[in-house]
Amino acid sequence: MTETAQIPNPRTLGAPVVSLAMPRVRRKEGRLKNVAVAGDKRVLLAAPRGYCAGVDRAVVAVEKALERYGAPVYVRKQIVHNVHVVKTLEEMGAIFVEEVDEVPEGANVVFSAHGVSPAVVSAADDRGLHAIDATCPLVTKVHREAVRFAKQDMEILLIGHEGHEEVEGTAGEAPEHVTIVNSPEAVDTLEVQDPDNLVWLSQTTLSVDETMETVRRLRAKFPNLQDPPSEDICYATQNRQGVIKEIAPKADLVLVIGSRNSSNSVRLVEVALEYGAKSAYLVDYASEVKQEWLDGVQTIGVSSGASAPEVLVQELLDDLVDAGYADIQAVMTAEEDLVFSLPKELRQDASGNTDARALGGRVR
Ligand code: SF4
Repeated sequence: MTETAQIPNPRTLGAPVVSLAMPRVRRKEGRLKNVAVAGDKRVLLAAPRGYCAGVDRAVVAVEKALERYGAPVYVRKQIVHNVHVVKTLEEMGAIFVEEVDEVPEGANVVFSAHGVSPAVVSAADDRGLHAIDATCPLVTKVHREAVRFAKQDMEILLIGHEGHEEVEGTAGEAPEHVTIVNSPEAVDTLEVQDPDNLVWLSQTTLSVDETMETVRRLRAKFPNLQDPPSEDICYATQNRQGVIKEIAPKADLVLVIGSRNSSNSVRLVEVALEYGAKSAYLVDYASEVKQEWLDGVQTIGVSSGASAPEVLVQELLDDLVDAGYADIQAVMTAEEDLVFSLPKELRQDASGNTDARALGGRVR
């Protein structure tokens, strides 16, 4: 399904602002110049874009933990891969650490949306930490698959980026059974113990097309390779790539709001270029957009990664309106209404009542 709709006012459109506490970014008036181009200027605004259910849940979990326990609340790794979210939560009293041994004994610690290995859970236990697990349930699903196939003594080919936190967490469930496959090209040199006892799983935020190419090459090499029980690349990653594929062929320029360490955001830029955008850039803030990127540009595609707050998109739209791109059309290829309940450690408020957010109701 593709729908386009004329949108007169960028401040009133699009995905809801999801976070409870993300402040509006202060705007520098008229930063981009309005330069004439041949033809009408317009923006194609991706829907869906921005926050997914897993990111929403993780950010709200830190906010709720701060509300309930007071500052500081420690968070292992970036709660989600977004500079603005991390900075905002730091200002509210969150302290981000790389490992649990940096957290004072007995303190509260939140595990990020990307998940943790059992070794990290044990290390937190050993320090007597009160852990709140904000791992996205769709990442937990992949962990469970890894555990199940390891119990069956299968060799698991985990398609994903080595060093990414999610991949470390999933591989850590069964390190002796998992081999990481970084790219389609890595298949050429891949060696396995038993080609008839293999299953593939994947990171949730990969390029759908590239992953399918990796699987195609794996199957050509190992014809008895088994598929996972369900798709591991999550709905949010698929939907954001799906709408960018619609927009990219019509766009002179695609701008994606997101951080450089955000896998799904980086993929959006790659997919845009692959599907015909003349140029595409990833920016954390609208202020990073360079005037020269707009030279001769009639149509700009706009999207945001699954960890990027909507306020940052709205700031970009404000700047683009100032630059003459006032005709903003939403391009919608999917609707999303998934909401995850809060981590179990936060489901009841201090008086023992179940928090409304825990039942999947949006608190905003
Ligand atoms: S991108 Fe997908 S897997 Fe990652 S947090 Fe969002 S919904 Fe979960």
